Amino acid sequence: MKKRFNRIYVEITNKCNLSCSFCKKSNRLLKEMTVTEFKEVISKIKDYTNTICLHVKENLYYILN
Ligand code: SF4
Repeated sequence: MKKRFNRIYVEITNKCNLSCSFCKKSNRLLKEMTVTEFKEVISKIKDYTNTICLHVKENLYYILN
């Protein structure tokens, strides 16, 4: 059965150490998704797509912190 979305992006952090000129800045609290939160999100979206992509802003920031 075809899923509703080709892919769904999950933003696991909103932290970023770059400052791209086109980026819309936000006043949101900076945070990272916990493993528990991630599992909960995946359980809710898994029936809507076969492809889940991680959106992690500037990748090295997430990996190194
Ligand atoms: S990498 Fe993404 S979040 Fe970070 S400054 Fe650039 S556009 Fe904004």
